[in-house]
Amino acid sequence: MDTATINASGRGLYCNRTLNLRGIRAVGYDMDYTLVHYHVETWERWAYQVLKARFEALGWPVKDLAFDPRAVMRGLVIDTATGNLLKCNRFGFVKKALHGTRTLSHEEFREQYARTLVDLAEPRWSFLNTLFSISEGCLYAQLVDLLDQRKLPGVMGYAELYKKVRESLDAAHVEGDLKAEVMRNPERYVFKDPETALALLDQKHAGKKLLLITNSEWDYTQSMMTWSFDPHLPAGMTWRQLFDVVIVAARKPDFFTSDAPFFEVATPEGLLRPAMGPFLPGSAYFGGSARRLERQLGLSGDEILYAGDHMFGDVHFTKSVLRWRTALILRELEEELVAMNAFGPTEARLEALMQEKERLEDRHCQLRLLQQRRREDYGPREGVQAQEVSAELQEIRARLTALDDEIAPLAKAASELANPTWGLLTRAGNDKSHLARQVERYADIYTSRVSNFLHATPYAYLRNRRGSMPHDPASH
Ligand code: IMP
Ligand code: MG
Repeated sequence: MDTATINASGRGLYCNRTLNLRGIRAVGYDMDYTLVHYHVETWERWAYQVLKARFEALGWPVKDLAFDPRAVMRGLVIDTATGNLLKCNRFGFVKKALHGTRTLSHEEFREQYARTLVDLAEPRWSFLNTLFSISEGCLYAQLVDLLDQRKLPGVMGYAELYKKVRESLDAAHVEGDLKAEVMRNPERYVFKDPETALALLDQKHAGKKLLLITNSEWDYTQSMMTWSFDPHLPAGMTWRQLFDVVIVAARKPDFFTSDAPFFEVATPEGLLRPAMGPFLPGSAYFGGSARRLERQLGLSGDEILYAGDHMFGDVHFTKSVLRWRTALILRELEEELVAMNAFGPTEARLEALMQEKERLEDRHCQLRLLQQRRREDYGPREGVQAQEVSAELQEIRARLTALDDEIAPLAKAASELANPTWGLLTRAGNDKSHLARQVERYADIYTSRVSNFLHATPYAYLRNRRGSMPHDPASH
């Protein structure tokens, strides 16, 4: 397949800042939703069930609530002060809002968000960073509905409710049940992608050090990596030999900013002992920090590429503090590209109609100004006769109304691509979404899955497209 076809299928390596893979000496990988991809709906439905059971145990009336995998998507913002879910554009302006599971009325929207700029540094906002956030966002929205109906005893408000959901999800991820089920039935939860192993072998044999840096615990990491990689490696090789360094329980993003020491995983059961001296080949480590890792590897900054799926935990500080090269894994791109391609002919029709609308609006403005100048008796005012001006204005207005009737359903369909409530991941209205802006800022490249490196080879020179500004000449 040629690059253009790959790019059109959503399987490309999309480049924000030029990246020469030849210059990369070490490639670090996150595990969950990066090297190991889950069937999102199945995993999140299970997480939702575990979460729900915790609230049921508190006596909350959640029994009839059902998981809706389309209720939220990565990149949305929870307004914890109001119990709303928001989609924001690249500037932080809110473009769409739901209160609980109900869309805000036009008046409510104006009243609450006309003057609001979402700044994720403020504690009021919580960004849905990964695909692990789907269960959390869905249940929170449904619980907001119950809170409004005064059915949640002892919960003082939307922020407290959010805190409870967060704490429960944290606990569910840390405690046994959630992951024990995944480890028991990996074929149900984990997506098989044999090409990932091949892409990593290519990188390893091209002389790059491979690093695994995951927040997951040792036993879970071992289980997921064995299932996902070992069957696809050459005979006699396991995932442990694929990686030069394995780091579990890394506590990202703190891993990227702290100077915490490493511990060595000393036994197969995960017993720890302080790590002294240089990393030993074949050993696995616990905790630690990027600075100590850099010292161990004798590498730094732009010699290291790190790939992860978590906007804040994986690429934000990696880029802003350490200046590592970064790759963000956005699996949704594949589904979105399919939807965008299918919509192509309608999109073209919509664009043609919008151009016609702009042309008519422009003529309408010119004629109104001519009328005004004649009425107020100033400035140049040659041209068509007064009567003809009003007739043409009337005609334009009628044509604009007809055009709007034609545009409205197409624009609605465009806003419902990929997700009927929230639309495309990287778009908000006509603009880029808040997520898209963060992708641009923190990810040098972004791609739907790690095995997409296979097509590019470890030797690729990835170039960004020329930046686009509103004043750029239209391409012909
Ligand atoms: P990584 O992506 O390989 O760094 O691993 C992410 C780890 O974080 C997994 O073990 C997840 O179970 C865990 N995780 C994901 N979301 C949450 C959360 O909301 N609270 C606590 N742990 C989480
Ligand atoms: Mg991850």
